[in-house]
Amino acid sequence: MSELNLVLLGPPGAGKGTQATRLEQDFGLPYYSTGIILRAAVENGTELGRKAKEYMDAGELVPDELINEVIAERFDSGDADDGFLLDGFPRTIGQAEMLDETLSARGRELTAALLIEAPDEEVVRRLSGRRTCAKGGHVYHVEFDPPKNEGVCDQDGSRLIQRDDDKPEVVRKRLSVYHEQTSPLIEWYQDKGLLRRFDGRRSPDEVHDRIRATLATKRLEAEL
Ligand SMILES: [Zn+2]
Repeated sequence: MSELNLVLLGPPGAGKGTQATRLEQDFGLPYYSTGIILRAAVENGTELGRKAKEYMDAGELVPDELINEVIAERFDSGDADDGFLLDGFPRTIGQAEMLDETLSARGRELTAALLIEAPDEEVVRRLSGRRTCAKGGHVYHVEFDPPKNEGVCDQDGSRLIQRDDDKPEVVRKRLSVYHEQTSPLIEWYQDKGLLRRFDGRRSPDEVHDRIRATLATKRLEAEL
C-alpha cells in the first residue's frame, strides 16, 4: 500500500481539526497536531520532552528544530509507516524544508498538502461567536448552536464565557500572523505540485467527501 504523508494547512476555524479526526478514521493515519505531540512528549518525560518543557515553562516558543525532532521520533516509532496527518507544522518555508529533509533521510516524501480555506470574515464570525462553559468546557455558538438560555450552559448551568483566543481582535491578529507566515508556504507547495485546495465554507461532510476523493485518487496514481 502506498503511503499518505499529509500536511494540513488553513486558518484557525476553517475546520482542520474536524477533518483530521475523520481522515484518521478513514485511512487509519495517526494525527500529529504539534500541540498534542509536544504535550505527549512532555508527559512521557522523554529527553526531547524535557527540553521542550523548559521552553514551555519559560513561556517561550519551542524552537523549530526541536519540534522537528519530536516529529521525526514519531516517524521512527512505526506508527506512521503508512502515512500521517501533520497539523501545525510546517507553518513556514523554513519548517517545510526541515520536514522535507527529515522525510528524505528516511526515503520518504510528502504526498500532498491539504489546504482548507475560509475567508477572514467567516473565520471571525465562527470563532468570535463561540462561548465556552467556564466549568465543563462545553462549547456553544451564539449563531449556529446557541444555548437554551443566553449565557448559561444547558448541561450544567454554568456561566458561558468568551475565551481570550476567540475575541474578535485576537482572532484578527491570529489571522494576520497566519497570512504573513503561511501564504509563502502555500505558494511553495503549489509550485511543487503538492497543494490541494478545499473550500472550508462548505459543510464538514462535503469537505470530507472531497478530501477523501482526492486522497483515493492520489493512492491510485501512486499504485499505477
Ligand atoms: Zn457546561
